[in-house]
Amino acid sequence: MAININAQKCPQNHRCPLLNICPAGAITQRGIGLPEIDQAKCTNCGKCSRYCGMGALQLK
Ligand code: SF4
Repeated sequence: MAININAQKCPQNHRCPLLNICPAGAITQRGIGLPEIDQAKCTNCGKCSRYCGMGALQLK
C-alpha cells in the first residue's frame, strides 16, 4: 500500500494545503505543480487522502 497522486484529478493551480496536513512532512511541491510523496517518510496514515477536496490522493 502506498499513497498515489492522480495528476488527472489535481488541478495543479494552487499551493497544496496538504503540505501542512501531512504529519510526516512527506509531501513536497515545486511551485504550484503536482505534489510529490516521499515514500520513505510516508507512514500511509491516509490523512492526506481524506483531506484532499479533489480526491487526488489514494491509498493503493
Ligand atoms: S498518508 Fe499520511 S504520512 Fe503519507 S503523505 Fe499522506 S498524510 Fe503524509
